[in-house]
Amino acid sequence: LETECGPVCDFLGPQKRIATENSGAIDPLDLAEYKRFGGFQSLRRCAHERLPQEIIDQIRVSGLRGRGGGGFPSAAKWQIVSDTQSDQKYVICNGDEGDPGAFMDRMLLESFPYRVIEGLAIAALAVGARQGYFYIRAEYPLAVTRIGEAIERCKEAKILGPNILGSNHSLEFDIKEGAGAFICGEETALIHSIEGGRGTPRLRPPYPAQSGLWKKPTLINNVETLAMVPWILRHGGEQYASVGTPSSKGTKVFALTGKVQRGGLIEVPMGITIREIVNSIGGGVPEGRTFKAVQVGGPSGGCIPAELADTPVDYEALRGVGAIMGSGGLVVLDDTDCMVDIARYFLRFTQDQSCGKCTYCRVGTKRLLEILDRMCEGKGKKADLATLESLCESVSQGSLCGLGKTAPNPVLSTLKYFRDEYEAHLRGVCPSGRCKNLISYQ
Ligand code: SF4
Repeated sequence: LETECGPVCDFLGPQKRIATENSGAIDPLDLAEYKRFGGFQSLRRCAHERLPQEIIDQIRVSGLRGRGGGGFPSAAKWQIVSDTQSDQKYVICNGDEGDPGAFMDRMLLESFPYRVIEGLAIAALAVGARQGYFYIRAEYPLAVTRIGEAIERCKEAKILGPNILGSNHSLEFDIKEGAGAFICGEETALIHSIEGGRGTPRLRPPYPAQSGLWKKPTLINNVETLAMVPWILRHGGEQYASVGTPSSKGTKVFALTGKVQRGGLIEVPMGITIREIVNSIGGGVPEGRTFKAVQVGGPSGGCIPAELADTPVDYEALRGVGAIMGSGGLVVLDDTDCMVDIARYFLRFTQDQSCGKCTYCRVGTKRLLEILDRMCEGKGKKADLATLESLCESVSQGSLCGLGKTAPNPVLSTLKYFRDEYEAHLRGVCPSGRCKNLISYQ
């Protein structure tokens, strides 16, 4: 038993489940079961007993920050939508997850559809919206089916529709499927897409919270953010805030992938270190290999080298080492991974997904990619490192939206921590052996 419990306890012990509460114990579409576990209690109380401001105050006390990547305080966003006067308001669940290596939203939508619906419904009551949308990428067909089925069952049970749960509130939810563009996860592009236009970002202000869908105040929250909401309202904001660090409260869901013995979807309290995640939950890198770095935050994020792995999971602490929390992709790298190639991989992704609206993003990322391609083929030039740095600066400064602004991050962070690998490539050497035409140390 001990040998069996060891890895299981190592994997589950450091985790804390809020967004993924009752994982493995609940049939995703069984409404009665969800209710047995306390489901829709929070919505019922919000619909009958709580004023909208009281709901927002609980979210404020909880310290919840947007889990889509930016970490903006959720209550502040909700407050703006609530305070903006309008005859119509909207709430949107952003399920257009597209980071390579990330599958947190997919799992939450597929496994806990009622929880996300409840979170969006509470958000709608808090800001005064009657219409909501689930924007889910079409590549997640099971998530689309489950949310659609769950909405129908909620309507039959009078949890959605007119006079929800016997109250005087009415809520209608619909699904809009994304068409495969990563950029549609950006709020203004997502709004264009729902309106039937091309999914391209626009300049802000005005912010969607003031003028969003059909120019009406619109609250957009990420799937994971909304999945936290029913728990917060059920247990109170203070209890949620008791977990985590002073500036980053509660838990974070990560898709743990790459060179670890136990990958998968995990939920951990904020403040846990990257090393604990890799070594305890993930079981460390494969035997005989050396832990090298972790790429946090996907194509917008950065790498954290093994020597900084005691950095806690905390918005500000991660930013302090040149990474970002991002939406939750966490890719572990070992000594067989080439950091120049990793930067190239993420840059190729952002280059491919650039909507082409601004020159710095459209052309700048292409020039960056050409340099990295050249280096990985052993054709790098001496001036390439300086050019990479100045181009990264220009792309970051001159791009309109987050995709372009953060596209250089994987290059900048690998340059910062693994400059020796870039220099080795200029000498025709790839220390990891990943770049085939170069000399290897492996
Ligand atoms: Fe499009 Fe890139 Fe400009 Fe964003 S930064 S609007 S993705 S071209």
